[in-house]
Amino acid sequence: MIIQPPIPSAYLDEAPEVLIQKIMAHKEAFGDKLLILGHHYQEEGTFQCADMVGDSLKLARQAAEAKAARFIIFCGVHFMAESADILAGSDQAVFLPHLEAGCPMADMATLPEVSAAWQELTPILAMKETIPITYVNSSADIKAFVGERGGSVCTSSNAERVLAWALERGERIFFFPDEHLGRNSAKALDIDDKAIVLWQRGLPLGGNNVEQIKAAKVLLWDGFCEVHMEFSAEQIEQWQRTVPDIQVIIHPESNLASVQAADKYGSTEGIINAVESSAPGSTWAIGTEVNLVNRLKLQHPDKTIHLLAPTPCRCKTMALVTPAALLWQLDNLSQGKMENQVTVEVTIAKGAKIALDRMLAI
Ligand code: SF4
Repeated sequence: MIIQPPIPSAYLDEAPEVLIQKIMAHKEAFGDKLLILGHHYQEEGTFQCADMVGDSLKLARQAAEAKAARFIIFCGVHFMAESADILAGSDQAVFLPHLEAGCPMADMATLPEVSAAWQELTPILAMKETIPITYVNSSADIKAFVGERGGSVCTSSNAERVLAWALERGERIFFFPDEHLGRNSAKALDIDDKAIVLWQRGLPLGGNNVEQIKAAKVLLWDGFCEVHMEFSAEQIEQWQRTVPDIQVIIHPESNLASVQAADKYGSTEGIINAVESSAPGSTWAIGTEVNLVNRLKLQHPDKTIHLLAPTPCRCKTMALVTPAALLWQLDNLSQGKMENQVTVEVTIAKGAKIALDRMLAI
């Protein structure tokens, strides 16, 4: 894990409104040389300082289009800053205000683990017919691994399309790192349960025998998002029993039973669009990160919006990017210090970009 240099206590002790005022003063001084990106799961204080908000890929692409920006601060997690660096120009530098803000799910598929699994499969399968697909929530070296082997990145909004594309090109898919997005997308494509095989890290052949591996259309890495694993079909059924007109929408990083019990499922942007386009007076229970759900509540006072789970499901690493961390980052930058810059090594960036570009072309 990357260790974050300690943020001086003066920042941590500062009143929230003072932090925001100072951040805004920096934004004014840097002008269009600075671009602050805010992921939907960020806390309100950090989110309100962002110039652009969105999901990870939308933000990375917007950053690349903001040619005047020399300094891009990504208020999100590490793989997002990496994607922004891969797509950014050589004259743009990308920063993450807290280096320990990684994505635990992305960290569940490391390059040594994935390479070892690929090697293990090589004597059993025609690997040219095995198309690797990685969720955008993955490290740059996993994206490069996939890009170099004819595969693609996918997002939670296009995973089904990317899986269908891969099955036209090969016999089977090896999908990293999120089991649940992979399974939900495979089920949406009507792939038989027996052809969806889980690869469990640390077990020989991922806990399968040779016949099971050969029968697989989709091999799923056993990664998961701890936030979206908090939701269950029982919670959904409870809402549906007690509030008859409620609509339940859930993120596809949740387990299959929850996705099947919900009225709808969708990516972060998909959830936002569904709520925005619903009729005034609609009632929703939403299964995703609490900061987004609370923001939707504030933005849509004409609708009734509930958290799906009884306790708020919060992404602990996103929560490290506080206004204090952002101000510390900006103070450093204004003194010419390039602390917390995220750079992707050139050959890795090249391979990862192939996988990202393939997705954009699908
Ligand atoms: S919400 Fe889940 S997938 Fe998103 S950054 Fe946090 S752990 Fe990773």
